[in-house]
Amino acid sequence: MNGDFRQQLRAWLADNLRGEFAKLRGVGGPGREHEQYELRREWDRKLAKAGWSCLGWPVEHGGRGASTQEQVIFYEEYAAANAPARVNHIGEELLGPTLIAFGTPEQQSRFLPKILAVEELWCQGYSEPGAGSDLASVSTTATVDGDDWVITGQKVWTSLAHEADWCFVLARTEPGSRRREGLSYLLVPMRQPGVQVRPIRQLTGTSEFNEVFFDNARTAKDMVVGEVGDGWRVAMATLAFERGVATLGQQVGFRRELDALIDLAKRNGAIDDPVIKERLTRSWIGLEVMRAHALRTLSRKDPGYEASVSKLVWARWHRELGELAMQVRGPESMVAVDGDLDEWQRLYLFSRADTIYGGSDEIQRTIIAERVLGLPKEPRA
Ligand SMILES: Cc1cc2nc3c(=O)[nH]c(=O)nc-3n(C[C@H](O)[C@H](O)[C@H](O)COP(=O)(O)OP(=O)(O)OC[C@H]3O[C@@H](n4cnc5c(N)ncnc54)[C@H](O)[C@@H]3O)c2cc1C
Repeated sequence: MNGDFRQQLRAWLADNLRGEFAKLRGVGGPGREHEQYELRREWDRKLAKAGWSCLGWPVEHGGRGASTQEQVIFYEEYAAANAPARVNHIGEELLGPTLIAFGTPEQQSRFLPKILAVEELWCQGYSEPGAGSDLASVSTTATVDGDDWVITGQKVWTSLAHEADWCFVLARTEPGSRRREGLSYLLVPMRQPGVQVRPIRQLTGTSEFNEVFFDNARTAKDMVVGEVGDGWRVAMATLAFERGVATLGQQVGFRRELDALIDLAKRNGAIDDPVIKERLTRSWIGLEVMRAHALRTLSRKDPGYEASVSKLVWARWHRELGELAMQVRGPESMVAVDGDLDEWQRLYLFSRADTIYGGSDEIQRTIIAERVLGLPKEPRA
C-alpha cells in the first residue's frame, strides 16, 4: 500500500512539474513567499484536483484519511521532486483540522470544500501589540449587534494577511473578562471596509506579515467556532495542529536547504575547511535526530511537552544553518548585490525569526521547566 502510494505520487509529480510549472522547482517558503505566488496557487489547485492535498483529513470531509506514515512519504517525495512551497498551508494544516474537531456541520460544509479547492485562503489573527508570548492578554473585542459580531482591535505579525480571504481571530467577547476566560474564536472575512491590512517590511526586504486593523468589522453571529467564551481551548488546539504533522513539511524544506549547502561547500571549496566539514556533519546528524523525534511523537494524539522540545530544537538548528551558510559562502556573504539577497542571505536573515514565532525559545523552556520538570513557577504579573 505504502509502496503504491509512493510510486503514484512520484509519477504524478514527475508528470506535472512540467511546462510552466517546471519553473516552480525549489520556489517559495519562509522569507521567499513572494516568489511566483500566483503560479504556486495554481499549483496548489492542481495538487488538490488530483487528490494530493489535505491528505490527513478524514475521507468524509474530502481528505484521504492518510496515515502519519503516508504523510511522511508525501513530504519526502514532495521534497525529492523539489516541488514548491504551498500557499494554502494555513487553511489546510491549521484551520481545516480545527473545524473538523470543533466546527458545526454548517461551518464544515461552508468552509472545508473551499479550503480543499484552494478557493479561499486563510490567515491567523492571534498576536497583538500587547499580546504575543502572553496571548491571554488579547484585547481585540467582539460584541453582538443584531445578527452580527462587530470586531474592533489590532492584530500584528499576521502572516499572509495580504493574500487571505478570511482570518480566524481570537477576540474578547465577554466585556470585563480576564486572561483565558471570555475569549472566542471567530471566522472573519478579510475583504470588507472594516478591515485594513498594512504590510510590515522585514529584514529580508520582503513583506510576508502584516498589521491588521479591525474597525467595526463584521461577521455573522454563527461564525464562532466552539462555544462563545471557550475560544482559548479552540485556539490552543489550532496551535497543537501547527506544531504537529505540519512540521514534517518544514523538515523536508530543511533537508533541501542542507543538501544545497553541502553542494555549495563542495563547489566553492569550503568543504576543505575542517571546521566547516564538521559543522555540516553535525547539521546532518541534527536533522536525522529531529526526523526520528518527529516520527516517534507525531502519531500520538496529544504530543504535549514534546511539541515544545521539537520547537526548541528545530528553531535553533535552523538558525545555526543560516549562520553556517554565511560561513560557507565566505566574505562575499556580507554583500548584497544591488540590494538583492541571494537564497543564503535570505535564509540567514529569516531564520532569526524561527526562535520567536510559534512560541519563543524562552516560552518553550518555561513550559518544559514548569510542566515537565516541576520547577518553581515564573513570577506572573
Ligand atoms: C515570521 C513570523 C510570523 C508570524 N506569524 C504570525 C501569524 O500569522 N499570526 C499571529 O497571530 N502571530 C504571528 N507571529 C507572532 C508570533 O507568534 C509572536 O511574535 C510571538 O508569539 C512572540 O510575541 P511578541 O513578538 O509579542 O514578543 P514578546 O512576547 O513581546 O517577547 C519579546 C521577548 O521577551 C521574551 N519573553 C516574553 N515573555 C516572557 C516570559 N514570560 N519569560 C521569559 N521571556 C519572555 C520572549 O521570549 C522574547 O524574546 C509571527 C511572528 C513571526 C516572527
